[in-house]
Formats: sequence, structure tokens, C-alpha cells
Amino acid sequence: MTGQKGVTLWFTGLSASGKSTLANEIQKRLFERGHLTYVLDGDNIRQGLNRDLGFSPQDRNENIRRIGEVANLFREVGVINLTAFISPYRADRKMARDLSSDGEFIEIFCRCSLEVCEQRDPKGLYPKARAGEIPEFTGISAPYEEPENPEIILETDKESVEESVQKVIAVLEKRNIIRSG
Ligand code: ADP
Repeated sequence: MTGQKGVTLWFTGLSASGKSTLANEIQKRLFERGHLTYVLDGDNIRQGLNRDLGFSPQDRNENIRRIGEVANLFREVGVINLTAFISPYRADRKMARDLSSDGEFIEIFCRCSLEVCEQRDPKGLYPKARAGEIPEFTGISAPYEEPENPEIILETDKESVEESVQKVIAVLEKRNIIRSG
């Protein structure tokens, strides 16, 4: 009924690296082309399904496990779903990936230097993290494990939002996930 194949577009990167901005903008473009999409992000997951979880390594692991399972359900019903979470651990991202088959999970690394993330910081989190008011903050007091083999790398500290969006759209067209626009 959706006339499309479900896939998961898994955005990963530091806070303020552009995951939400890009996921939402790409969702808009896909909507305009008649595709059914859904964005999973902190607003609808961290405050709902996962509101019992914090930011310890164990809770981050459980956070990503649940998100991976939810993304997989959306994928199974044919929705192009976009997840926008830091997801700092390689093993956790692999766990999410391993729920789907080849080509159904596209890992998108929003690569952005910590300096630029701190400058952009739309949610004003970095000063609090630096001051120790937010413990276990990725990039400051908790680790981020860069993807080793992501399907897409976006240099979000060098590219414009539009350039990053176009890179993703081009991959989706090439893989016949979306219709050419
Ligand atoms: P995250 O979801 O990774 O925490 P956000 O999307 O909330 O990050 O914030 C990223 C900020 O950087 C936004 O204010 C956005 O406008 C800005 N920005 C500038 N260039 C880019 C780019 N190429 N890609 C994504 N965001 C960008």
C-alpha cells in the first residue's frame, strides 16, 4: 500500500552535529515526492517510550536497543524512517543494523568537529556539560565511537544543510529507495 520499500536512515553524530535538522529536512523532501516517512528523535522517544532511561552506558545501550526495534517495526510496514540520536557506541548501532537485511539500514554519519558543534549548540547544552551540570555528555565527558563503515558521511561542519540533504537524496535515488525527483 505504501508503494515503497521500508528502510531505516540512521543518523549518528555528536550533539548539534545536525542529525535532527537533516532528518526533518529530508523527511520534508520525501513527503513532497509522495513518500511515507517518520522521524524518531529525542522529542518522541526520549520523552515517551524511553523516559525511564538516563545516559549511563547501560541506559544508552537500552535506549538504542528500543529505538532499533521501533525503527525496525516501521521499516517492516514499509515506512522510510529516520532516526536522529547520538548513538555513540558502535556495538549498539550494529545491534540496530543487524535487525535488517543488507540495504535496508543506511547509517549516516554527521561528521562535525566538536568546536563547530559547541559553536552551534542550538539547545545550549555544551556550557552545562563543560560545567559538569550535565554528566556523561558525549564528546565532553562520555565517548563517541565514530562509524567505521557508514553508508554516508556528511561533513556538516563544511557543507550547507542543502548540500548534505542532496547527498542523502542522491544515495536514495541511486539505490531505488525513492523515485527520481
Ligand atoms: P543534533 O540533532 O545533531 O543535535 P541539530 O540539528 O539540533 O543537531 O543542530 C544542528 C545545528 O547546526 C542547527 O542549528 C543547524 O541549522 C546547523 N547547521 C549548519 N549547517 C548544517 C549542516 N550542513 N547540516 C546540519 N545542520 C547544520
